[in-house]
Amino acid sequence: MLVALTVVVIVQALRAPAVDTASGTAPTVAADAPATVTVGPTTTVVSTAAPSTAASTGGAAGAVPTDDSVPAPSLETNTTLSTAPNPNGKFASQVKSGALPPGGSFVATGKGSWHVVKGTGKPVGTGPEKFTYSVEVEDGIQSAAADKEFAEAVDAALADQRSWIAGGQFTLQRVDSGTPSFRVSLTSQMTIRDPSLCGYSTPLEASCYNRTVGRVMINNARWTRGAVSFNGDLGLYRVYAVNHEVGHALGFGHQFCTENGGLAPVMMQQSFSTSNDELHLLDPQSVAADHRVCRFNAFPYPRGSGG
Ligand SMILES: [Zn+2]
Repeated sequence: MLVALTVVVIVQALRAPAVDTASGTAPTVAADAPATVTVGPTTTVVSTAAPSTAASTGGAAGAVPTDDSVPAPSLETNTTLSTAPNPNGKFASQVKSGALPPGGSFVATGKGSWHVVKGTGKPVGTGPEKFTYSVEVEDGIQSAAADKEFAEAVDAALADQRSWIAGGQFTLQRVDSGTPSFRVSLTSQMTIRDPSLCGYSTPLEASCYNRTVGRVMINNARWTRGAVSFNGDLGLYRVYAVNHEVGHALGFGHQFCTENGGLAPVMMQQSFSTSNDELHLLDPQSVAADHRVCRFNAFPYPRGSGG
C-alpha cells in the first residue's frame, strides 16, 4: 500500500510538478561471468565447417579467413572450446525488471552539493518555449574528465533531432551561469534518496525531476549501470534518462505502453519496466495490467519531426 500511495504522488497530470520517486534496494549484484574460452593450439588448417554456433544468428557460413597471418580458432576436434554463457534473452532471474543490473562501479555517496560543469551551447530547436539548462555534478563523485563526458552526453541527447526539439515546441540552450530553467544534475545513489530530492519510498533506484529545487536529478547508479529493460544498452539508456527527466521539466507526465510490441513512450517509466503489468504493480491506479509490453525507446520522437 505504501508503494501504491507513493507512486500515485509520482504519476501526475501534465505539467504537474513531477517527482518520480522510487529507488532500489541494491540487489546483490554479481559481476558478469567472464566468458572462458580456451582455444587450443591454433593451426592454419582451414576448416570448411560452418562457424561456431556461438557466433550469433545468421553467421556468415563458410566465411573462414584464409590469411595465414591471422589464424582463426580452429574447429577441428583437437581444439577445445568451452561453452560461453548464453543469456537466453533474459537477465538472471534474480534481477527483477526494476532492479539495478550488474555493471561498473560508482561512488555511492557524494557530498550533497553540486558544481556547474563549465560550458555553454547555442540554442537548439526553434520552438517558442525557451528553456535554459546547466549541467552539474555532485561534488565528490567523479573526475573533471568524467564531468565533461556527462555534459557532452546531456548536450547530445537534447540536441538530437529525435529529442524534444523535434516537436517544434521548444528551444533549449545550455548555460553555465545565472539561473537556468533547470539544472541537469548527476547525483549519487545515496544523496538522491533524500526525501527533499527524489526520495526512496519505493525501493528502486530512481532519477527524478524536482521542481522545488529546480533540478533534473540523474542517479549515478543508473547512469553507470542502466536498466534491465534496456538489455545492456547503456548508451541508449543514458539518452532515455536525460530525455525522460527533462521531459518532466518541460511539463510532461508519465505514459504507458499503448501498443503491444511497439516502441515505449519516452515518458514511460522504462527504468522500472517496459511492461504495463509490471508497472501496474508499482502504480495500480494509473497503469492497467493489460499485458502490453513495449520495446525500450530513448526518444520522444524516434522518427524525428515526423512523429
Ligand atoms: Zn518519470
